[in-house]
Amino acid sequence: MTMADAERIPGFNTLAIHAGAKPDPTTGARATPIYQTTSFVFDDVDHAASLFGLQAFGNIYTRIGNPTCAVLEERVAALEGGTAGLAVASGHAAQVIVMQTLLVPGDEFIASKKLYGGSINQFNHAFKSFGWNVVWADPDDLSSFETAVTPKTKAIFIESIANPGGVVTDIEAIGKIARKANVPLIVDNTLATPYLCKPIEYGADIVVHSLTKFLGGHGNSIGGMIVDAGTFNWSRDKKYPMLCEPRPEYSGIVLHETFGNFAFAIACRVLGLRDLGPALSPFNAFLISTGIETLPLRMQRHSDNALAVATWLTQRPEVAWVSYSGLPSDKYHSLAQKYCPKGCGAVMTVGLKGGYDAGVKLVSNVKLFSHLANIGDTRSLIIHPASTTHKQLSDAQKVQAGAGPDVVRLSIGIEDKEDIIADLELGLTAK
Ligand SMILES: *Cc1c(COP(=O)(O)O)cnc(C)c1O
Repeated sequence: MTMADAERIPGFNTLAIHAGAKPDPTTGARATPIYQTTSFVFDDVDHAASLFGLQAFGNIYTRIGNPTCAVLEERVAALEGGTAGLAVASGHAAQVIVMQTLLVPGDEFIASKKLYGGSINQFNHAFKSFGWNVVWADPDDLSSFETAVTPKTKAIFIESIANPGGVVTDIEAIGKIARKANVPLIVDNTLATPYLCKPIEYGADIVVHSLTKFLGGHGNSIGGMIVDAGTFNWSRDKKYPMLCEPRPEYSGIVLHETFGNFAFAIACRVLGLRDLGPALSPFNAFLISTGIETLPLRMQRHSDNALAVATWLTQRPEVAWVSYSGLPSDKYHSLAQKYCPKGCGAVMTVGLKGGYDAGVKLVSNVKLFSHLANIGDTRSLIIHPASTTHKQLSDAQKVQAGAGPDVVRLSIGIEDKEDIIADLELGLTAK
């Protein structure tokens, strides 16, 4: 390799395929092997002791780390432009571990009102039972984030593109509010993926993902990821004990002092994942890493197909409105042009003139679309949130989250767009 080669920073497509992976040193296997093992043999007693004391990096037990999962962690961290990643069992597990690392009972965090319905439930119920109090703010009114800040605020949580309403959040403006409050900004980048949007470039300190969706991309594995941007100074106000106080679990080391700009990822692994336990299986890590190899191709096709479908839907007599930030008429189009210039992803919501009944009729009559509760599959997916994912929310919360009774959510797949449109026409015109 020449010097020029060594210094080249690989592009996104190259990283999606190669980041984190190399041929297996013992067998030469080119694809990353599935290290389907619970535990790893120590070289000797001293080696074991240094691993347990965090004086050396290495494999101990798959709940804490696994080589197949490590490839996935390095790959997503590289694509997001972070310092380190931590793979966990689901997107929701990622959110639990992040908050448990940042908050103690009685603390608060500010969250955008426009979030995935599952996250709204998790924050309102499970997190409250842990004593972590959510304070909701409106992404359409940035001052609501500023006025929500109190001395107990420990973090701000938003989605880049919000599920399901097609809302694009002003990451940079909220990042400034977080910096002023000296709390980390957490961005759920599930719907955009780093191919469409890189939250760290706009001030995110932590990025979380449901790998279940576009990163895995094929609807076959549940998984989650935490990416540490390495940007936050955990020691400044001494308000994050997991990071800036001596840890009794590890003979008094201070994680931020020892691990610097990847201390947050380390804390999530050696305290959060170790003690709470939602580890990702190596088999799922293998499937998801393989999925990521084609992420750029898939996301571009998802976005191009979705824009074609959204444009077609706006011309249909059965359709009252389409919420998709790729449409020039959309409320969030200018934010989308800033944050997602290559395309606006696969997910949109559609308001039907016929209300609840028309939503039920559409999901019942499509054939190519699958009626199910997921997004980010190669296949086109459809759901009526009011009767499913958002059913547990109050009517006001449903409308707030962009999931009123007339709303149908589509996740446009990578099939031929003519077939997707023909199928929607079938559903819309069914008797
Ligand atoms: C699905 C989803 C989650 C939760 O992820 P799981 O992998 O299902 O636990 C979180 N945020 C967003 C935006 C999602 O779409």
